[in-house]
Amino acid sequence: MAPASGRSSSARVPSIVVHGGAGADPLEGRDELRDGVRAAVDAGWHVLASGGAALDAIERAVTVLEDHPRFNAGRGSVLTSAGTVEMDASIMEGDRLECGAVAAVPRIANPISLARKVLDSRGHVLLVGEGALAFARRVGIVECDPEALVTDRQRRRHAAALAQLPGTVGAVALDRHGTVAAATSTGGMSGKLPGRVGDSAVIGAGTYADSSIGGVSCTGDGEAIMRVVLARRTLEYLKDADDPEYAATVAMDLLRDEGRGTGGLIVIDWRGRIAWAHSTPLMPVAWRSPAHPEPVIPF
Ligand code: ASP
Repeated sequence: MAPASGRSSSARVPSIVVHGGAGADPLEGRDELRDGVRAAVDAGWHVLASGGAALDAIERAVTVLEDHPRFNAGRGSVLTSAGTVEMDASIMEGDRLECGAVAAVPRIANPISLARKVLDSRGHVLLVGEGALAFARRVGIVECDPEALVTDRQRRRHAAALAQLPGTVGAVALDRHGTVAAATSTGGMSGKLPGRVGDSAVIGAGTYADSSIGGVSCTGDGEAIMRVVLARRTLEYLKDADDPEYAATVAMDLLRDEGRGTGGLIVIDWRGRIAWAHSTPLMPVAWRSPAHPEPVIPF
């Protein structure tokens, strides 16, 4: 299938784009996906429009999607082969390349906020499993009941061993000060082995931001995305071509040809131009910029 892609006509700051994961088309329930990405982009936009930072805007947008049971992040995460929830998340600020990530974390309602605390701690970049939970306790993030993250829908899909649908979430924003930030959060691939970590926790693979070039959040086959370090490579294409849509489209070729996988990504460049591309049948996207008083939801 030829990669689908698009680009906004606006080049003005601030701007924000969110995705709700690349995957098969569920054929029903698109309205629910639209409502979810609309709420997320609005929440992030609210932060940007009131002069807030890109990092706060994307954390806010991703939190909304983690709380939404229809997406594969936070509540609604897919289940491992053992029937448990283990989540990955990462966040990056592009001025000083500050980043934070968590991997294989259970019992945390909003893994992106935990990743943000790792970033804010300015010490480590990636914390995993029980160590990440101990850090969460130290910074005041309370563990939730593991059952609170498991939806009936994911229980049914797990029992029937159904294929992955779109659901990983991500956001990229540019704020008035010219800072670009990017974030990704996921329950991972359904039926994954306990302990498996995907690209969404890996800076450079699933998430990257450099305010002098742009920011990227990826979704799709995590092993393939890691193989080609997709987010960072996309920014290299962007730097060379100065064309976000071109960079996103070429990145899908890279993912297919060298990564041997499919997926999608969203990108914002340093000027606020937005683009996305996916090589799967569907990737819910929504974006906002000053030129558009309402969210643009192109699916
Ligand atoms: N990239 C995620 C992972 O491999 C899954 C996804 O985006 O659907 O964990």
